[in-house]
Amino acid sequence: MPRWLPILLFAAVMTALPLIPGMPPFWIVLLDNIGLAALVAMGLVLLTGVGGLTSFGQAAFCGFGAYTTAYLATVYGVSPWLTLPLSLLVAGTAAVLLGLMTVRLSGHYLPLGTIAWGISLYYLFSKLDFLGRNDGISQVPPLSIGSLQMFDPETIYFVIWGMVLISAVLTMNLLDSRTGRAIRALRRGHIAAEAFGVQTARAKLLVFIYAAVLAGLSGWLYAHFQRNVNPTPFGPQAGIEYLFIAVVGGAGYVWGGVLGAAIVIILKEVLQGYLPMLFGGQGQLEIIVFGILLVLLLQLAPGGVWPWLSSLIPIKIRRSRVDASAALTPRERTPGATGPLLKVERARKQFGGVVAVNDVSFEVDAREIVALIGPNGAGKSTTFNLITGILTTTGGRIELHGKPIDNAPPQDVVQLGIARTFQHVKLVPDMTVLENVAIGAHLRGNAGALTSMLRLDRADEAKLLAEATRQIERVGLGGEIDQLAGSLSLGQQRIVEIARALCADPMLLLLDEPAAGLRHMEKQRLAALLRQLRDGGMSVLLVEHDMGFVMDLADRIVVLDFGTRIAEGTPDAIKTNPEVIKAYLGALA
Ligand code: ADP
Ligand code: MG
Repeated sequence: MPRWLPILLFAAVMTALPLIPGMPPFWIVLLDNIGLAALVAMGLVLLTGVGGLTSFGQAAFCGFGAYTTAYLATVYGVSPWLTLPLSLLVAGTAAVLLGLMTVRLSGHYLPLGTIAWGISLYYLFSKLDFLGRNDGISQVPPLSIGSLQMFDPETIYFVIWGMVLISAVLTMNLLDSRTGRAIRALRRGHIAAEAFGVQTARAKLLVFIYAAVLAGLSGWLYAHFQRNVNPTPFGPQAGIEYLFIAVVGGAGYVWGGVLGAAIVIILKEVLQGYLPMLFGGQGQLEIIVFGILLVLLLQLAPGGVWPWLSSLIPIKIRRSRVDASAALTPRERTPGATGPLLKVERARKQFGGVVAVNDVSFEVDAREIVALIGPNGAGKSTTFNLITGILTTTGGRIELHGKPIDNAPPQDVVQLGIARTFQHVKLVPDMTVLENVAIGAHLRGNAGALTSMLRLDRADEAKLLAEATRQIERVGLGGEIDQLAGSLSLGQQRIVEIARALCADPMLLLLDEPAAGLRHMEKQRLAALLRQLRDGGMSVLLVEHDMGFVMDLADRIVVLDFGTRIAEGTPDAIKTNPEVIKAYLGALA
């Protein structure tokens, strides 16, 4: 079914719900609360589920949104609709400041950092005089349109759920775009994303702000719904609960946020209502039962309830077709350039006492396939990491067309025309082959987050996807284009990485053990592809252990042993080189 149909159905159901005759007002209030929580959870979906940044502090951003409007509306009498952009701005600005500090933290420090400022802000809200300390701000005016004042839960319901729907559509648009792919790549670590030009720190900050703005929106709505604001709902406990909602619903899915909000809020309400009736009035019992039920739920659906439910319903969303005629402009080659394409001159890398790369020099010319061989631990992958800017050199020079690139960041190296694959495959397993490969073309598109959210990126996107499709077909994986990358064999995943690298339109392709895990026929196809690329003007530098493959394919071979270059020459010369035989080839024989 088309993409918009479920959204339309959802909108119709949500519009009809409060109009059902005899619907108890109590349920409407519950639905309002679900909508408010869903907004925060949706931000967390992007931040935590998709971007991999766990935050316990989202409730504080609701506080920024709520207090901003409450203060301006009560003290200065500003109309609530005018405070909306200000509420979002304050939440967003707070996110920039906290984000700059927080997203640099890694591992467990990041969630701990969010807990820390979650608690601090809670105390700040409750200590500031002008925010009314613990009493907060009361008599916040209701939202109004013309003479309609939204005092009751039934009218503001439409505003809340309208905002939920708009936010869901914008978020889904964002995820299905160039920026969205960059965000989705974050969870798998920085290295692959940066190797194709993604500014990961900026992408993290973006999702941080996005999530905070959604929380700020929820806070703004909350202030005009409750019509009073105090610190309690913006404290650390609420922050934990929002994260819970996102995880229960399915942290990687926009609708998981909405579903999670419904499950958690209804469950809490039901338990609070009925347990005391069953077991007498002792309080707190519901919290224990609530906890147990949620743990059971996560046992049943570890990835969250949304993906579990949608796997039960056999409805497929139709993918929009890729417009095959869209094309990117190829990189401007420099045919007049003289000298080698890549020049590695006494490159050195030490890890403490280990000299992984010991003053290694070699060159790669235009239209040439050079193989880098040597025993395990010889320093081949480290050499690749030095060339592509993943590691900084300890000494020496690396030049591309005479321009020094040692210690240039990976994003610059790929921009200049070097693209690579990884010895340990670095794809995003829950993205399709097409989406993974399209990351390779990241720098060749320019649609930003806002353009994508408004879906004004379609022309740009069509070009990227058409290019990705072409490269996937070129490497022979056309049949797998819509599969999840994680479902392919390891050998195929290596080929997907080659397609991704080709999408960057490189002058030099760096392949780290591309033939590992391939069957004989597949290796031959790969060799044919690499020859064809070379004949088309590309250079290839590859690391490979299959000597038959290397000897047959390479124009020149560089041999490393213990970080040191021990030989260089044509395949025939290398085969008979006594030192090489002693260090490496002999061991194979
Ligand atoms: P190859 O790819 O030729 O098998 P590597 O380049 O991966 O070899 O490794 C070369 C040497 O550098 C090995 O001794 C390895 O243990 C060491 N090494 C590689 N990366 C690191 C690192 N990040 N920290 C410390 N030592 C490393
Ligand atoms: Mg290696």
